[in-house]
Amino acid sequence: MKMKNLTPLQLSLLNSSIVSVLIGIIYLLIHIIFNISEWYMFLIVIGITWLVSYLVFAYTLEFFIYRKIKLIYKTINNLKLKEKESPAKIDIRNDIITEIGEEVVDWAKSKNIELAQLKNTETFRREFLGNVSHELKSPIFNIQGYLHTLLDGGLHDASINQKYLSKAAKNLDNLSEIVNDLDIISRLETGELNIDPQKFDIHQLCGEIFDSLEFQAKRHTISMAFKDGCNKSFYVFADIDKIKQVLTNLISNSLKYGKEKGKTLIGFYDMHDNILIEVTDNGNGIEPIHLPRLFERFYRVDKARSRSEGGSGLGLAIVKHIIEAHGQQINVRSSMQVGTTFGFTLKKA
Ligand code: ADP
Repeated sequence: MKMKNLTPLQLSLLNSSIVSVLIGIIYLLIHIIFNISEWYMFLIVIGITWLVSYLVFAYTLEFFIYRKIKLIYKTINNLKLKEKESPAKIDIRNDIITEIGEEVVDWAKSKNIELAQLKNTETFRREFLGNVSHELKSPIFNIQGYLHTLLDGGLHDASINQKYLSKAAKNLDNLSEIVNDLDIISRLETGELNIDPQKFDIHQLCGEIFDSLEFQAKRHTISMAFKDGCNKSFYVFADIDKIKQVLTNLISNSLKYGKEKGKTLIGFYDMHDNILIEVTDNGNGIEPIHLPRLFERFYRVDKARSRSEGGSGLGLAIVKHIIEAHGQQINVRSSMQVGTTFGFTLKKA
């Protein structure tokens, strides 16, 4: 049995033995040296007993119990002791047990939160990996089918060769879009894609995006314009390339999921320190149950249309990442058969 590791019972036995032996010796010494046997001898013995037991208990409590508690306390606080360093001197006048009790409860709470976060991250990682492989599988599987059919003789069949080659090419485009978008997300998350803000006219940027999406808009017979009073300059302070990506994703979604002969409108609103930018369409709208998950990676409402339009399901996740990297917010509101509005803020320049 190690002396340092006494149980409370052994500690009590040790203390009472030490105290009684010491008192016996002191009593004997007083009796022999001073030959006192009067009534005040009783008082002296009480006084000495009190002092000796106080000292013995104080020392043993500190040595056997508080030092160990302090060690636990330091461990949960991540305060590393240097090798061979003994725990700091403990002031046993403080209510150290209550203090440590509270610390341990706080520590347990924070560990529980950490654990829940780790579990969430793990679930997210598993789902994400499943989604990525699922998304990659379909275009790869399609390309494989078309190419093998062509190799197995289809190449010389004029009725399918051109068609299958262009279908394989379209699937390759989808594949490349998914991989590109995943790359952007991962670079935004690791902080590799820094936000490089500058002053620019967001109205002018929207005009350029209208021009670049004109062909797509004509194909969907949807017109693009500014809301009343918004056909003028609005200066913001943001990363122009990344905001171009945000607006391109939102406007191109309004074309992909809009109605034939529909309308996409852009509005700008002055909000003191920020400019609110809204992209509104008069498409079919999005059911309310989908709205909270809309910005998740690979979340699609209209799966068929998204795939046929070559959507990766990552567009809105990228948009949200970019806006949040600017320290701003994005939101969506939608009414079935009326349309959808995406709104985000940017710092006013
Ligand atoms: P995708 O590549 O599929 O377009 P996004 O992340 O850009 O992916 O959008 C996620 C889903 O949200 C889309 O699949 C679509 O169902 C829905 N969505 C996005 N924008 C609109 C919109 N303006 N109107 C209706 N539905 C939309």
